[in-house]
Amino acid sequence: MSDWKSRVDRDMMRTFNMPIAMLTRGEGCHVWDAEGNRYLDFLAGIAVNALGHAHPAFVGAITRQASTLAHVSNYFSSPPQLELAARLKRLAGADEGGRVYFANSGAEANEAAFKLARLNHGDGSRTRVLTLENSFHGRTFGALALTGKPALQEGFHPLPGGVEHIPTTIEALEAAIDDRVAALILEPIKGEAGVIDLPEGYLARARALTEAHGVLLIIDEIQTGAGRTGEWFAFQRDGIVPDAITVAKGIGGGMPIGALVTFGAASELFGPGQHGSTFGGNPLATATANAVLEEIERAGLVQNAAARGEQLRAVITAIGSPIVEEVRGHGLLIGIGLSAPVAAELSAAAFDRGLIINAPNATSIRIAPPLIIGDAEIDEFTSLFRAALDAVQA
Ligand SMILES: *Cc1c(COP(=O)(O)O)cnc(C)c1O
Repeated sequence: MSDWKSRVDRDMMRTFNMPIAMLTRGEGCHVWDAEGNRYLDFLAGIAVNALGHAHPAFVGAITRQASTLAHVSNYFSSPPQLELAARLKRLAGADEGGRVYFANSGAEANEAAFKLARLNHGDGSRTRVLTLENSFHGRTFGALALTGKPALQEGFHPLPGGVEHIPTTIEALEAAIDDRVAALILEPIKGEAGVIDLPEGYLARARALTEAHGVLLIIDEIQTGAGRTGEWFAFQRDGIVPDAITVAKGIGGGMPIGALVTFGAASELFGPGQHGSTFGGNPLATATANAVLEEIERAGLVQNAAARGEQLRAVITAIGSPIVEEVRGHGLLIGIGLSAPVAAELSAAAFDRGLIINAPNATSIRIAPPLIIGDAEIDEFTSLFRAALDAVQA
């Protein structure tokens, strides 16, 4: 075993599998391992590194803010915090009466959303929370209870109660929803499930039903947000207004940060003292997220994600591999459905050739490159991915 692997084995908690490699450096859309091998990074830390690695806007913001004011606790506010709150409200379309709660990760943003759901209790009559089967909302207890993957919950019961995982069909939603439901919480595209879209018309129907029954519609935009799907937030494609969204991953471009953004009346549910976080919304994290979102806007990266996503889907289809059954997703959140359970083998073959992609399950490949990719990266991806497909077929 290499030295770093034996150190992982000795020192790291055994919550993850053995890491694939030891990475030491990144620049743009590439990373390098400890042996100096270069990789095209088409996973971007699971849809996190929106600007790629070591982008000057990201580095500059962190450096400036760290040398000005990094952390103050929530007894105090700071200019970058208020700037980010206003920016998130504007980008999400929550200007009118919206509010922002800052956390430090996706799971924490969803914990806040779960507590928001509990506050919509209807004087005790609303005890049910609906989420979708095969959904992913994080690993902390509340977020894990929301997550619709029994395998991840195994060994951790009892979980916070009242959560019901329903099949992802309009019929199942119609059958489940009533006036005892506090919230419906869902991903607009199920990322961890292999980049799976909601059925046609689902969000519009969900909005109508939740409104009719006084249920909060909370959309988990943690993987889909910050421009990745070719919209600032994926729900915007459907022209609905939710009661809340949760964001994390891409908004910090590599800085750990999460947030709950509420719209309208849901913004008045939390009162002073009902939730909090020592680090949440600190000047360092919020200044970085401001710089990342500002650069996404300035450089037109939402539009780039839409256009490059179309281009990537076309080249993947054009390779014409019998292993590739379907190409899913929007913008630069792409799922490839495979005709055989070879996803792990295929992503390993890609890595051996210098391409980082990911296998969320046995028959799905997930691609989530930095939003800055252009023709050069797409060409490099195409030849590496074709070679990996050939190796697995052979
Ligand atoms: C990654 C993810 C989470 C959890 O985020 P963490 O930062 O890992 O806690 C929650 N929901 C979705 C949809 C995600 O993709």
